[in-house]
Amino acid sequence: MLLENKVVLITGASRGIGRATAIEAARQGADVAINTFRDAEAAADVVAEIERLGRRAVAVDGDVALPDSAADFIDRSVQALGRVDVFVSNAGICPFHAFLDMPVETLRRTMEVNLHGAYFMTQAAANQMVKQGDGGAIVAISSISALVGGEMQTHYTPTKAGVHSLMQSCAVALGQYGIRCNSVLPGTIATDINKDDLSDPAKRTYMEGRIPLGRLGRPEDIASVVAFLASDMAGYMSGAALLVDGGAFANFQ
Ligand code: NDP
Repeated sequence: MLLENKVVLITGASRGIGRATAIEAARQGADVAINTFRDAEAAADVVAEIERLGRRAVAVDGDVALPDSAADFIDRSVQALGRVDVFVSNAGICPFHAFLDMPVETLRRTMEVNLHGAYFMTQAAANQMVKQGDGGAIVAISSISALVGGEMQTHYTPTKAGVHSLMQSCAVALGQYGIRCNSVLPGTIATDINKDDLSDPAKRTYMEGRIPLGRLGRPEDIASVVAFLASDMAGYMSGAALLVDGGAFANFQ
């Protein structure tokens, strides 16, 4: 029960890593508010799963790229669950595309969802925590892409480096309020975000072969690390990045 009676807010929690993190938080004893985007059915399913675990849950629809969504998510979560102890910035997109003919709109949208969205949401959550006056924990889902490049991800990798940088600066800005800020850098986790990219069996086998632990990651592999960073067990961690990649980054030679 790492998060017993805490209130945890997570963006982009209709599926993938966000969904697994929401459910893990509930398993660890938290009430959970999820931000979802467009998919009301998936949101209702996550809420039901959390309630089955005996915890309270609320879903708030909103596009993280819009500044107003952030205030709305925090306000409605606080109305429903009373406060914010933990905020997880997870929502993200990765529309794979080559560099030389990258459409301006694809670049702009990826920046706005992944980086601006993380900024607006983190800022709104931090303001609520400062108002409460007893600290908090913020965890952002960055990526191994913050450390390495990707041919079809020139618009995406800078956002993930930016998200980690945001956590470092927020750790400095918010330490005086007892708010810890850290990032998690997942390796390749099998979710919808890379389903098409990994649908080629040869590519999937190649990727698995590069991972010392011999398999792609699962959303639950990330959820448990987020729960740890959000918990008091990580009480002296701030501005840190945890790479969760099955050893892939170390396996260069
Ligand atoms: P998924 O595509 O499975 O899930 C992405 C989630 O983000 C969905 O719930 C989606 O909602 C939501 N989302 C997308 N755009 C918005 C928006 N504008 N506003 C609010 N929510 C939005 O991907 P993952 O679970 O894999 O990705 C989660 C995070 O993990 C991302 O930040 C990604 O960059 C990061 N990551 C993933 C890795 C991987 O290998 N899977 C590796 C490293 C990092 P909807 O269902 O409505 O589209």
